[in-house]
Amino acid sequence: MRMKLLAAALTAAAATLTFTTSAQASHSWGGYHWARTSNPFTLQLGDNLSSGWKSYLSTASSDWSSSSVLDTTIVTGQSNNSCRATSGRVEVCNRTYGNNGWLGLASISLSSGTHISSGTVKVNDTYFNTSTYNTPSWRTMVMCQEVGHTFGLDHQDTNQTNANLGTCMDYTNNPDGPLSNLHPNSHDYDELSTIYSHLDSTSTVGQSAAVPTVGNSKASWGKRVAHSSHGDTFVRDFGKGDKVITFVIWAS
Ligand SMILES: [Zn+2]
Ligand SMILES: [Zn+2]
Repeated sequence: MRMKLLAAALTAAAATLTFTTSAQASHSWGGYHWARTSNPFTLQLGDNLSSGWKSYLSTASSDWSSSSVLDTTIVTGQSNNSCRATSGRVEVCNRTYGNNGWLGLASISLSSGTHISSGTVKVNDTYFNTSTYNTPSWRTMVMCQEVGHTFGLDHQDTNQTNANLGTCMDYTNNPDGPLSNLHPNSHDYDELSTIYSHLDSTSTVGQSAAVPTVGNSKASWGKRVAHSSHGDTFVRDFGKGDKVITFVIWAS
């Protein structure tokens, strides 16, 4: 609670000053956002998924579209299952990516400082095919969280052993629990409203410029900038404002 009050105070202070820096927000990642000229904007989620995953993407798309500032629509994927990033949209993929430790990965490419120009979501069937993770709850939570990252959202909480906060943006050992972490909560929608409160003069949504990308291995993700036992965040800086942020949720 103390942290939230502090963050609210910082946001208020920033609002009364100038917007020369990104607005401080309690679980925005760096103030990064899609540039767009009006709200609500519609972000395309490319479906590169096998049949067993499609309903989970539908749920995540519909959950996040409850936000007042953005809508998502599921379209035919343009990546093969390597999940190459497509500029101006998000590509969502599943595959048996191997015993590399990660359950899910979300990456966002930044091409002009703070503006997101593409996103990818990958879910690793190597783990989702095991009895621990092959449950509707784990699939729902991880898909919701990874798609949430592609809007610029960070985690609300990275301690997986405390009580669930009731949002998919919270690490947990059990997505069900007394309070389930299967869907966004009101704080996520509030955060999106904060991140997307201003409008931009240009748009990165639906654009077709080249975007920087990273691969499936840790070696390609750059510097680790946040760490907890259940997940890490990496930043690879390509120079001239081009970066890729990668959010990893590790299998236990
Ligand atoms: Zn902007
Ligand atoms: Zn995450």
